[in-house]
Amino acid sequence: MYFQPKATIVYQPPLLSLVSALTNPDHRQEAARIVARHAGAENLLIFVRDLELGTLLPAPGFIQTLPNARQWHDFVGECQIGHTINRQLSFPGPAGEAQVTGIAGEDGSVLVLLGGTPNVEIVLDIALLLPLLAAAFEGERRAIIAKGSARIAKQAADQAKLLATSLETARSALRTALSDAEEANRAKDRFLAALSHELRTPLTPVLIAVTAMERESELSELTRHDLEMIRRNVELEVNLIDDLLDLSRVISGKLRLRRETLDLNRLAAQALEICAPYLLEKKIRLETDLSPTALTIVVDATRVQQVLWNLLKNAVKFTPENGSLSVKTTAGMDGIARFIVRDSGVGIEPEALTRIFGVFEQGNVNTPREFGGLGLGLAISKAITNAHGGGLLAESPGLGKGATFTVELPLTTPVESGQRLQPSPIAPANPGHLARILVAEDHRDTAQLLMRILHRAGHGVKTVASVTEALESLKTERFDLLLSDVGLPDASGYELMRSASKLYGIAGIAMSGFGMDDDIRRSLEAGFAEHLTKPLDIQHLKQVIQRVLTAG
Ligand code: ADP
Repeated sequence: MYFQPKATIVYQPPLLSLVSALTNPDHRQEAARIVARHAGAENLLIFVRDLELGTLLPAPGFIQTLPNARQWHDFVGECQIGHTINRQLSFPGPAGEAQVTGIAGEDGSVLVLLGGTPNVEIVLDIALLLPLLAAAFEGERRAIIAKGSARIAKQAADQAKLLATSLETARSALRTALSDAEEANRAKDRFLAALSHELRTPLTPVLIAVTAMERESELSELTRHDLEMIRRNVELEVNLIDDLLDLSRVISGKLRLRRETLDLNRLAAQALEICAPYLLEKKIRLETDLSPTALTIVVDATRVQQVLWNLLKNAVKFTPENGSLSVKTTAGMDGIARFIVRDSGVGIEPEALTRIFGVFEQGNVNTPREFGGLGLGLAISKAITNAHGGGLLAESPGLGKGATFTVELPLTTPVESGQRLQPSPIAPANPGHLARILVAEDHRDTAQLLMRILHRAGHGVKTVASVTEALESLKTERFDLLLSDVGLPDASGYELMRSASKLYGIAGIAMSGFGMDDDIRRSLEAGFAEHLTKPLDIQHLKQVIQRVLTAG
């Protein structure tokens, strides 16, 4: 039997697999020591080129900060030029320095072996693998940078998300605030409408009664005077309520215009006619200079009348007795028609000239006490002229020196010289159609007064106080017109109008203490031909009745 001698087989892993262990960042330090020992040294370092900085730096995972950096820098520089270089260099550790052997690879990376007596053959073999290692380290570096960028990108994304959330929170707070404000606005509109209704309703019978009484022939001068005073004050109250309503429309931008083609001269003449008694009363001299050519404008007649009348009223109000007032209309070559009122009154301080167009603004310091008013007229007038694409201007040389107000409205046709002013006669008195009118009104005083007035105008009248009674009457009798309050006790006037129009084809006029745009629209939608806001102006009521009867 042969004796098998005992042999120790030392397994030497191939150099490539030893070196490739260096590419694993988790075990790099350990792999470095194994490779170094394999080459007869204690440890190793690899310097690779940093592509961005263009210089050699320790590869990732190796010691990064070396003492006496200048020395090291020069050493790796020399390694790139020469072959293998040995040197004593500062190194962290108890000894403070180390014996180092450096060799450059083909790609310029430098392998440095620390301590021991490195085997040159093995060192050269490792150096051959340096480009592979450098490529792996570069990939690692890029991955680290990419990871950093990804982290930064994530941070940015997180921040963007946070921003988006806070933006959405702010937006939703804004939306809530906006809807609160809109609700508050609607509440204010409702409040204004309700307030004007409450304020107007009791004035209706007073105004109708006073107007009716004034017609009685056997009145003492004193009673007539008192009645006139009562009517004037009630009318003033109504005007103030109208101003408040207008103001709410102006502020909410809901001013609705019913445009028609008109001559500004004609509107001016009508406004002056209304103004005449007030001028007479204060002995104010009036000069008029109306353009000889027609000033054709497409405007809402009632609204423009309101503006002209407001300016004339102010001119009279702010001009003392025996003062003077001039009214002029012109057609500018700029395509603008102008209505100019100049007075010799109290004038306006320069700094107040723009302020007076603000809501609730009054000009001179003592205006309110002396002259009354709320400071709404000019704000409303300006909004009306602006809504027509025109404007309203104020001028004054100063306190005590009078004021000039100019209304500007766009002309529709170019001005031709020699074009004559169309005569604008005031419509002759017309007895009009006489009709049988059914009045649906539950307010007893108002119903009785309407009955008297319509009787006096020659109409046949029946009054009822509910929708049921009204429909009963329509079923059994013939009527030409329905004049109905909107708020009746058993159902609304709208419902009455819908049934009356469907069953009997009768035309109707709505009466309501509510005069907002929405109220008017609802009446028209229900089938009423017109909407009258209380308190009723008797003349206007008669005109509207004639208009509806004629149209029918
Ligand atoms: P109100 O007359 O009701 O106070 P307005 O809006 O019509 O409100 O006028 C605002 C202010 O403009 C007046 O209070 C007054 O100070 C000034 N103002 C208006 N018209 C004239 C005028 N013709 N002369 C002097 N001041 C005027």
